[in-house]
Amino acid sequence: MRKSFGRIKGVGFLVWHGKHYLFHILLGLMWAWFLREIWQEFNTEWVITAMVGSVIPDFDHMLYFTTYGKRDPYTQAIVTFLKTHQWRVLVRFIEKGHKYNTSLTFHNFYITAAVFGLTILSIVQGWRFWAFLFGAMLTHYIFDVLDDWVTLGRLNPNWKRWGRGKRHVIRVPIKNLS
Ligand SMILES: [Zn+2]
Repeated sequence: MRKSFGRIKGVGFLVWHGKHYLFHILLGLMWAWFLREIWQEFNTEWVITAMVGSVIPDFDHMLYFTTYGKRDPYTQAIVTFLKTHQWRVLVRFIEKGHKYNTSLTFHNFYITAAVFGLTILSIVQGWRFWAFLFGAMLTHYIFDVLDDWVTLGRLNPNWKRWGRGKRHVIRVPIKNLS
């Protein structure tokens, strides 16, 4: 990649590699549209609620990095890339690596089922704000599960487990990073 295009390419690079998040937000918006069909009512507040809801579950990654997964090799690698300013490697590493990080505590079927229940309850009760929020969160978990299936060909163990599980080394295919 030529240096002179670094800046523009940098933004494009982030957008391209951030497409996992664009999908999440898009699904959140589709959920908002679906509720609009039911309730024939729509406003910006709900659109924003659905967008926020669609990415909330990934606070799990933040928690992982700052608390329970702080000492894992995966986190250590990311800290190294940050310190040495290897941004592109960092983005690619996270993009690949977040699929291999099987130590997440709150990405599991128990939470997914609970959010599903809360979504149904909110719709039935007419708690609109919560219906937008929980439903959008639900689309996040469903997409993550499908994404696991498509990119890994199997489900990560975190889905079937309550809590964090055993610590182990995450094998990220480093050779694909550059
Ligand atoms: Zn996620």
